[in-house]
Amino acid sequence: MSRYTYLITGANRGIGFEIARQLLAEGSHDVIAVVRSIGTAGPIKALVDENENSKIVEFDVTDRLSIKGAVKALKAKGVSKVDVLINNAGVTHEQVPIEALEDSEFERILRTNVVGPNAVISEFLPLLQQGTRKIVVNISSGLGSISMNSGYTSGGYNVSKAALNMLTKQYAVEKASSGFTFIALDPGWVQTDMGGKGAPLSANESVSAIVATLSKLTTKDNGKYMNRFGKTLPF
Ligand code: NDP
Repeated sequence: MSRYTYLITGANRGIGFEIARQLLAEGSHDVIAVVRSIGTAGPIKALVDENENSKIVEFDVTDRLSIKGAVKALKAKGVSKVDVLINNAGVTHEQVPIEALEDSEFERILRTNVVGPNAVISEFLPLLQQGTRKIVVNISSGLGSISMNSGYTSGGYNVSKAALNMLTKQYAVEKASSGFTFIALDPGWVQTDMGGKGAPLSANESVSAIVATLSKLTTKDNGKYMNRFGKTLPF
């Protein structure tokens, strides 16, 4: 099996932590785990420390300068490529009818879930260009499907994930000729701080399927919106 470097945002907890954990458990990949603050990071720090070629780095996806700083710090540590970028960091908001969503709250969601992933992709493109797989997976949601909208009242979040889907497609079209693969992936409803205890899937279950799907992605998947098993979803 080839050895690849995966960069995962939001690796401090939830789905991002579990992706890092499972990839490292396979023993055949290197992980660059992104947290907001290394000083206050949870078990991800010890996990990375146990794996010689893996690294922990800090940035906030809403702060372009901090992303630039992280790229610089990684290069200084000898990182010369990223094979797979997983844009997983995300936030949601209290359920309210869409007309009651505060502007500041809507802006926070869009900034973290859409502007942030774009800034991360943009700053890491040169390292991705040096990678073998050139894959970007944007962790979306079934709630980002316009055609499947169920009326779930986290409207600002739904809008942000629909926009993330379009961001994915935009990159897919613009970068197809450079050998990149851009995917929007719905992890399912998962027991995390965001998904809550009532979610049907454990992080382990969701991420086992995601990790299996990641290993199979090829340039033929560029521009797809898919579930954790790799099945295409309608935009
Ligand atoms: P959690 O709330 O458990 O974890 C979110 C992670 O994102 C945390 O590590 C958090 O960092 C990080 N994060 C939040 N804001 C920023 C920021 N500005 N900069 C950097 N990192 C940030 O969420 P999940 O693990 O459940 O969700 C992961 C992804 O999966 C999200 O994109 C979410 O929308 C998506 N998703 C989740 C579903 C679910 O059921 N759980 C369903 C569908 C999609 P910190 O620890 O520092 O707060």
